Amino acid sequence: MSLLDILGLLRQQHSTPLRNSRFGWWPARSAFDLMVGAVLTQNTAWVNVEKSIARLREAGCLDAKAILALSPEQLAELIRSSGYYNVKQKRLRALCRWYWEKGPLHRLKRRETEELRAELLSVHGVGPETADDILLYALGRPVFVVDAYTRRVFSRMGLVSSRVGYEELRQLFERELPRDAKLYNEYHARIVLHGKRVCLAREPRCGECRLRSRCVYGQAAESS
Ligand code: SF4
Repeated sequence: MSLLDILGLLRQQHSTPLRNSRFGWWPARSAFDLMVGAVLTQNTAWVNVEKSIARLREAGCLDAKAILALSPEQLAELIRSSGYYNVKQKRLRALCRWYWEKGPLHRLKRRETEELRAELLSVHGVGPETADDILLYALGRPVFVVDAYTRRVFSRMGLVSSRVGYEELRQLFERELPRDAKLYNEYHARIVLHGKRVCLAREPRCGECRLRSRCVYGQAAESS
């Protein structure tokens, strides 16, 4: 079964239209908000990130220069709701320093994807998922974002090992799908929906899953 066939089944399963802002389904008002969110969402639920972004906005600090002007303690306080706030304030400052030096957006948009990706990965606290969130959602580059939901759904289906590395999984999607940022945006959104609603970490709802006939875990659960 191809990855496009799987997407077709995910569309059937989650047929409600996806949010369609200028950043696809990612809820952000600007590319900079989105970059901030990509750092803050590490290891926390989005609802906590929204509170931090709202506090930064209320404080008039939702731009790189304003964030860099804050003391570490002030920034940590503003992003407290996102958890690990001492770690994240350092990461956010590092991203802002990079953006202040290399941005703004229109300058970044003129650069090659691979060069940008390598540069983002060299920023303190920016791992592959955060870098790819920024590349796909903020900059519209055809880079597939892999997350815990992707690994869970596709390993349970038997398509990859549960220990598959980030790069291996990303390259699988990028090799088998057309290089299309809009498609990657939608595919990631539908995997997240599936991981949150059906293919749950504990007690997946295999009985209501459209992927079940193609899923090793689902088939085993059915016959046990
Ligand atoms: S059949 Fe079960 S394990 Fe497989 S993808 Fe669906 S919910 Fe996940």
